[in-house]
Amino acid sequence: MLTVFGSVAIDTIRTPSRVIKNALGGAATYAAVSASFFQKPSLIAVIGYDFPKQYQKILNKFLDTGGVVHANGKTFRYDGSYDKTLSSRTTNKTELNVLKDFKPTVPERYRRSEFVYLANNDPAQNAKIIKEFDKVKFSMCDTIDFWISTKRNDVIKMMGVVDSVVINDEEAKLLTKTHNLIKAAKKIMEWGTKIVIIKKGEHGSLLFCDDMVFPSSAFSLENIVDPTGAGDSFAGGMIGYMASKNSTKLSTIREAAAYGNVMGSFAVERYGIAGLVKLRKSQIQNRFRYYRKIVHF
Ligand code: AMP
Repeated sequence: MLTVFGSVAIDTIRTPSRVIKNALGGAATYAAVSASFFQKPSLIAVIGYDFPKQYQKILNKFLDTGGVVHANGKTFRYDGSYDKTLSSRTTNKTELNVLKDFKPTVPERYRRSEFVYLANNDPAQNAKIIKEFDKVKFSMCDTIDFWISTKRNDVIKMMGVVDSVVINDEEAKLLTKTHNLIKAAKKIMEWGTKIVIIKKGEHGSLLFCDDMVFPSSAFSLENIVDPTGAGDSFAGGMIGYMASKNSTKLSTIREAAAYGNVMGSFAVERYGIAGLVKLRKSQIQNRFRYYRKIVHF
């Protein structure tokens, strides 16, 4: 069983080609929908009175939404702009709204989840909620510059209570105050996690475990329209695949990273979450086979 906890959002995304307002977003949304192609996850999150019905329908289609709390306030909102390279993003606004005072709890029937993904969210909430699960076999968390800047100590504490951390390269450097990604990964491991995956956007990722480094390439695309959610889709694909195999073996984790790259590539081909919600399992398998062929030597 897999549970995903984190932000569900209403996003404004500004790309050079198009601005999309009031789009369904959130780190947990992308991660959970991505994971759902491997195993249907349970979602714990909070939404407000302004959360559109059609977005609720999308969540219900892909996920067990029994853990989604409807609060009396506005949904978490994020506004970000990409430059013309589409690889650099500026946050214009983060409005926590209902996320701010959310006191999450794990519904009884989710407590025996073996796989738990703590998507980008308040790190103190993440660290608290993981303790409510009874038999976690593998947990993973992510974070973003907003939390590193506002709650750095909580981010570090959170990284001490999970089995793995996925984080993008810029954020890893910001958090560990180093420019070298190997040093950054080692430092994060010193805080208590066993595995660190550093995402490098279109350049793929580096997976660290003990003394092992596993670099994996991104699935190269000619047409990218909106990178939002790529990292979350990567992580969701990874943990979703592991949950479907019920395995935490290193060989499974490496394969899972490859699925992560494939899922990230689907997310960026369309605006918002459309790249995931329109996807079929056969497309994932075809791209995975092709990816395996091109990285083999
Ligand atoms: P990514 O592009 O993978 O970094 O994820 C983007 C998603 O993260 C967007 O849909 C946002 O709604 C969500 N997000 C942005 N900032 C935050 C934050 N401070 N806390 C939680 N989620 C966030």
